[in-house]
Amino acid sequence: MKPGIHLPNNVKQLKEDETFCFSCHPGVPCFCDCCQQLELALTPYDVLRLKEVLGLTGTQFLDQYAVIEYGEGDIFPRVYLAMKNDSRESCPFVSSNGCTVYEGRPSACRTYPLGRGAWLDQKGKSHASHVVIYENHCLGFAEAPKQNIAGWVHDQGLAPYNEANDQLMRLLQHKNIAAGFRPSASQCDLYIQTLYHLEPFKKTTADAIGLVMSDTALLPYAINWLIDELFPEEKN
Ligand code: SF4
Ligand code: SF4
Repeated sequence: MKPGIHLPNNVKQLKEDETFCFSCHPGVPCFCDCCQQLELALTPYDVLRLKEVLGLTGTQFLDQYAVIEYGEGDIFPRVYLAMKNDSRESCPFVSSNGCTVYEGRPSACRTYPLGRGAWLDQKGKSHASHVVIYENHCLGFAEAPKQNIAGWVHDQGLAPYNEANDQLMRLLQHKNIAAGFRPSASQCDLYIQTLYHLEPFKKTTADAIGLVMSDTALLPYAINWLIDELFPEEKN
């Protein structure tokens, strides 16, 4: 987290070279217990990876698996993974054998037991710090293997997630938002359509300017395009 922020007792700031003991595998007695009753916020890159694994379009994924909420104090709407309507409020992707979308599991699932806070400096360079989140029900902390941040990021395949999520910060932490800009309802809709559905951006804007590329490569363009749309005075 950004230095100077007060942390709850079960959350410990982790220095870059510090280690923590943790392992999660099918042998832990709590295996998959945490894949329920979650408020699991999805970033645009999370949706992109999940829809690829599931063979869906962004629109189909949002229709089947997402809840879009606009909470008090939020700048833009948030997209959450919809839990199932069963007695455990299970994640739609959990099975007795584990996560059925493991290759495309969201950044929050990959990052735990760490939490990552990221911010941009005045030159637009991203910085991040990490905490360990100790939760009583999680028996992975009793496991022996020692991890450090770099090893965890590598093992969990987090690098492309962190990179894509940091690119979004250029919008979410834009100076105009800090200065009080609040998007209109149609601009909020544009945010969801452009970054989460992605297909409308691809069909109209990207095709019109001849951008032929994978969704992964297209997402940064969509973020830049949206920044230009929302803050046209910034365009060069
Ligand atoms: S996406 Fe996978 S790892 Fe994440 S909560 Fe669902 S089942 Fe668990
Ligand atoms: S509670 Fe902890 S150890 Fe158990 S399955 Fe979840 S992350 Fe793994």
